[in-house]
Formats: sequence, C-alpha cells, structure tokens
Amino acid sequence: MLKRPPAWVGFLICGMLFVALYLRMPDNLYGVLGWDGVAVAGAVAIVVGIRRNRPEGVAAWWLLMAGQLANVVGDIIYFVAPDDAEVFHPYDVPYLLGYGLQVAGLLSLLRRRGAGRDWATLVDSMIITSAFALLSWVFLMKPVAAEASLGLGGQVMAISYPAFDLLLVAMVAWLLTAGGSRNVAFFLVAGYMVVFLVGDYFWSFANQTSYDPGTLGGRLIDCAYLTGYIAFGAGALHPGMVEIGRTAGPQRVRPMTLHRLVLLTTATLIAPALLAWQAYSGGGRVPDAYAIVVGSVVMFLLVIARMTMLVRQVQAQAVVLAEHADLLREAAQLDPLTNLPNRRAWNAALPSALQHAARHRAPLTLAVLDLDHFKVFNDTHGHQTGDRLLIEATAVWSANLRSADVLARYGGEEFVALLPGTTAAEALDLLDRLRPLTPMGCTFSAGVATWDGVESGEELLGRADQALYRAKDAGRDRVVSDDVIAAA
Ligand code: GH3
Ligand code: MG
Ligand code: MG
Repeated sequence: MLKRPPAWVGFLICGMLFVALYLRMPDNLYGVLGWDGVAVAGAVAIVVGIRRNRPEGVAAWWLLMAGQLANVVGDIIYFVAPDDAEVFHPYDVPYLLGYGLQVAGLLSLLRRRGAGRDWATLVDSMIITSAFALLSWVFLMKPVAAEASLGLGGQVMAISYPAFDLLLVAMVAWLLTAGGSRNVAFFLVAGYMVVFLVGDYFWSFANQTSYDPGTLGGRLIDCAYLTGYIAFGAGALHPGMVEIGRTAGPQRVRPMTLHRLVLLTTATLIAPALLAWQAYSGGGRVPDAYAIVVGSVVMFLLVIARMTMLVRQVQAQAVVLAEHADLLREAAQLDPLTNLPNRRAWNAALPSALQHAARHRAPLTLAVLDLDHFKVFNDTHGHQTGDRLLIEATAVWSANLRSADVLARYGGEEFVALLPGTTAAEALDLLDRLRPLTPMGCTFSAGVATWDGVESGEELLGRADQALYRAKDAGRDRVVSDDVIAAA
C-alpha cells in the first residue's frame, strides 16, 4: 500500500496544481477568489506548521506569517478597490506593513542563526545588496524622484516600495550567505523570498517603464507570487523548519566557494558595467555618474573590509600554525616515555659534540648503557612496571649528570651518553657511581669509548657498543672501557 505523503508534500503538489490552473482562470471575481484562496491557504499552512512543529523563537514565524497575511490583505484591497489616486492608495498600508513585518521576521531568524557573529558573510551580503541598490536607484528610484508631478508625498510612497524591496534583498542575501542549516524547509522559505522579490522587481519594472506584460505576462507575475506563497506554506509545514532558526556552530561558517566568488565578482562588476553601458549608449555622457561613483566607492570599501578580514584570519592562523610547528619540532626530538632526547636528537647532537671537542681540543667520551635482564624484569613485574623503571632510572641518572652531558634513549632499554670534557677514566668513575642508583634492584652494563679525534661518530659509537658487549659477556652490572676493563 502507498504511504500517505507528508503534509508539506501534499500542500506543495496541490498548491502548484492550483497555480497552474490559475494561469488559465478568467480575469473576473473567480480569478480574484482563486488568487486570494491560494494566498490565504499559504498563511493557514504557516499557522498549522507553527503549531505542529513548535519552533524555538516562534515570534520570527508569526512575524513572517503576519507579513504574508498583510500582503494578502493588500492584494484584496488592490483587487476590490483599485483607485487611481496619485499619492496614496489604501493598499499601500497593508503592503508596506507586510514588508516591515517580513523584514522584522527575517532579522529575528538571522539573529537566531547567529548571523550577527559572522562579519564576513555580513560583508558578502552587503556587497550583493550594494549592487542591487545601484541598479534599483538607477532604474526604479531615480525616475520616481525626478517625477515632480507626484509631489513629495507621492515620491516618498513610490520610492518606499523599491526601498523595502532592497531591505528584503539585504535580508535574503544575508540569509543565503550566512552559515546555518540548509534543509528542504530552508530552501522552500528562502525560495519564497526570492520568488517574491523577483515578482516584485518585475512588477516595479513593468510599472516604471509602462511596459504592458499582457494578460499572460501579468498572470505569470501573479503565479510567481502564488508559487512563493505555496513554497512558504510548505516550508513551514516541513518538520525541518525548526532548524532554520537554530544557531550555526562555528564550523558552519560558509567557506569561500566558487559559487560565492562568482556571485561577489558579478556584484562588484555591476558598477563598471553600468558605467560602460551608459557611456556607450550616451556617446560619452554618463547620466548616473554620481550614483556609479557612490556605488563603486561603497563596494570598494566593502571589498577592502572583506580582504582585511581574510588577511587577519590568515595571519591569526599563521601564528597558531607556527606555535604548532614549534611544539611538533620539540616533540619530534623527545622520547615520549622518558622525556629524554630521542635517537633523532642524538643523531644531531653527536656530530656537533665532535666538532666542539675538536675546536676546543677537549676530550669527549661516549657511553652506551643497557639494562640487565630487562626482559626478565618485564616478564616478572609486568610491562607497566618496566616502563616505570625506565622513567625512574633515567630520571636518577640525568640528575647525576652535568648540564653539558647528553643522555638520550637510543631504543628499547638502551641509552647513550655524551660526556664532553671527560676522559675515559672519569667516565668509568661516573658510570660506576650511577650503577647502584638504578632503582627497583635493577642493574645496567655500559661500554665506554673516548674519541680519538679522527674517527667518525659512528665508529666511536661502534667501539662503545663493542665494550658494552664485553661488559655483558663478563657477567653484566659493570662498565667496560674500549681499552680498560673495569670490574664492578
Ligand atoms: P640483557 O641483559 O642481555 O640486555 O637482557 P635484556 O632482557 O635486557 O635484553 P633483551 O634485548 O633480550 O630485551 C630487552 C627488553 O626490553 C625486551 C623488551 O620487551 C624490553 N623493552 C624495550 N622497550 C621497552 C619499553 O619501552 N618498555 C618496557 N617495559 N620494556 C621495554
Ligand atoms: Mg638489556
Ligand atoms: Mg638491549
């Protein structure tokens, strides 16, 4: 059996079918009723959606719903009492109120999404809005401002529509560029806003240029609004609508995608494109030169602000990266268990110790230490106790070495010591003092070799290692010099 589709899908499909029907409806009372029916159904769907889904920050939704309803009231007045008053029309009140409510609702949603904390996307949306503002001024507002016959009141009324549209553009651009959840409900609601604005701009443009879109054209504009109402209602019915008003986590900040880059580039190119077009068509005369200057300056400043933010962000990240690199470099030189220099650090220390000894003509002795029967110790006391022995033994040995001496973990339970300014005899003495300090009843054997001033570090280490083998062979718990055998 087929499952019943969710309410939002049902609403969307029925609504769109009706919008398709509306396209062919007669231009009489039935047509008006059809239009208002869809618009009211959209508002009812929002109310049902609010009650079903119970979003946090419900005020934003009520504001948006009230704005939509105000538009419907405006439409009804427009159809029922179309008057030709020049300055003020009764439908202006609900229409302008509708804009105000929608802007307030969107601002509330944006605040809930945490958009105010993300300056970068605010600047992005301002760049897009500035481009719209320039176009809106040149094509919609300025012609009205120049129409002296309207009188001041009429001009203010006529300009308030594109001005409110611009405010809506700003909100929608911000909503679309800022972070936060983008689910089906989001796209339905944002889609409503976009469609509403497209319809509004087309209507304003037709009005401005006295362009008659014809019956079908007029119906298509109507359908744009209706599609918006249906999308909004479906979006509110969608359970995902509760996500729209939720804060985006810091990781949800939108990256500079190619998409966004194209959008911002297009927006910033509108001023020069307008300039080129006007200069070309006016034979060098640019009627809107000042508006283009203002628009360009605003956009340049916004782009510089955005660039500064990005540069600062990169600089801050570079500092963090450098700190991490320092930590990593340090960590790469240390043995994590004993905190002694590891074999990598040892490999760097040995050649410089040889150079130092050669320069100062000072003796340099190298010792290799190896814990005795450590495998048995591990087997008897457990690996963790073995680890503790490694930590405690190296701590006590280090405490009894000079600061110039280097004790490193060569691997496993084998350690190497560089003893600058120390002769073989002194080294034997020193290591014999270290032997009884080894904790937990453990002992070590060591081999010692003094640098002959010619051999490589590897050869020196090899000789010390040979001496260690001899110490092990001789019964362990003793120190053997490459040439002097010292019994324990
Ligand atoms: P010898 O006296 O001949 O040196 O005998 P040994 O048992 O000390 O030497 P062998 O090389 O046979 O064994 C070394 C043991 O050291 C084996 C290995 O499990 C242990 N070992 C190596 N690294 C670690 C470590 O980090 N922690 C612990 N607990 N044991 C380790
Ligand atoms: Mg050992
Ligand atoms: Mg060993």
